[in-house]
Amino acid sequence: MHSFIPPARLLLGPGPSNVPPRILAALARPTIGHLDPRFVAMMDEVKVLLQQAFRTSNRLTLPISAPGSAGMEACFVNLIEPGDTVIVCRNGVFGGRMRENVMRLGAHCVLVEDPFGQAVSLDKVDAALKANPGAKALAFVHAETSTGAASDAAALCKLAREHGALSIVDSVTGLGGIPLEVDAWGADAIYSGSQKCLSAPPGLSPLSFGEHAVAALNARKTPVQSWFLDLGLVMSYWSGEGARAYHHTAPVNMLYALHEALLILHEEGLEASWARHRANHLRLRDGLTAIGLQMLVPEAARLPQLNTVCIPAGSDDLGTRRRLLDEFGIEVGGGLGELAGKVWRIGLMGHASRPENVDRVLQALAIILDRKAA
Ligand SMILES: *Cc1c(COP(=O)(O)O)cnc(C)c1O
Repeated sequence: MHSFIPPARLLLGPGPSNVPPRILAALARPTIGHLDPRFVAMMDEVKVLLQQAFRTSNRLTLPISAPGSAGMEACFVNLIEPGDTVIVCRNGVFGGRMRENVMRLGAHCVLVEDPFGQAVSLDKVDAALKANPGAKALAFVHAETSTGAASDAAALCKLAREHGALSIVDSVTGLGGIPLEVDAWGADAIYSGSQKCLSAPPGLSPLSFGEHAVAALNARKTPVQSWFLDLGLVMSYWSGEGARAYHHTAPVNMLYALHEALLILHEEGLEASWARHRANHLRLRDGLTAIGLQMLVPEAARLPQLNTVCIPAGSDDLGTRRRLLDEFGIEVGGGLGELAGKVWRIGLMGHASRPENVDRVLQALAIILDRKAA
């Protein structure tokens, strides 16, 4: 065996996205102790940078030391108790995972279903909230990476608040790529991931709890069933005042990487990053249309960072993706769940969202599918 040298890849799938050299360089810096005052000071900066990225002043804003799925689990396990009712919107694979979390906690799940590829229906959610007046929370996915659909997170958070339910928002793929305003929208609990539009490696899950979520956490009748994800314990490790209680060893180098990724986002500016994602999405859409390919998601709900393309009749799903990878070094995603074999998912996330990458994947697809631009 030898050291592992990864091949050169252009990552245009559902995540991870390409990690730029500046973040890789941060990752390679010497590991220091996780209680070293200099490291602790950097953790404080990570919190501030995350608050800026989420557009929030929530004090409980920190990265969970595990991937996005752990951020999801942290929200449910801290806020939901056995017997609670939770309304879960399922318009893709990740909504299904939210439901799974609710069930495993011994809570009652009310599903609001929409077809894969469409936004969550506000009318259906409104009806479900009215039909379940005591519901503890409304959970939904802001940016459904499995389908490429965006949902109206501002309106959904507002509906939840009007009915006295907490909003639990999955913005794993949203953060950095599309408008997200945690405070202005009144999102109560939200989580994201390091490897999508932030372009850091996978393994961290930024999370933020607002005052209503913190109040629900403090009012629990039962202890949080997970020791590792108990935010009461995690907070005492991350909170800046006085001595830090040892909870777990922070993934030191990954936090260097996240710090650098957030710094890059801050330098570019959130609005500029959203606009860049949108411009490259439009370039891709125009190019795909020119070679006769169709998008799955209706225009109004399209995510710029995750483009779902219908596989044309007679084209080979796996064979096409294999050739993209082997001959062009490009990774795109296949369909998930009920969309398996029906779509390709072309991600334009974070650092990878650039015009030259759009052109590269368009050229490769045109060659493989033997199509000329009209
Ligand atoms: C990627 C993703 C997750 C899971 O994140 P992991 O880091 O893979 O655990 C959850 N929700 C959405 C919408 C995602 O795109």
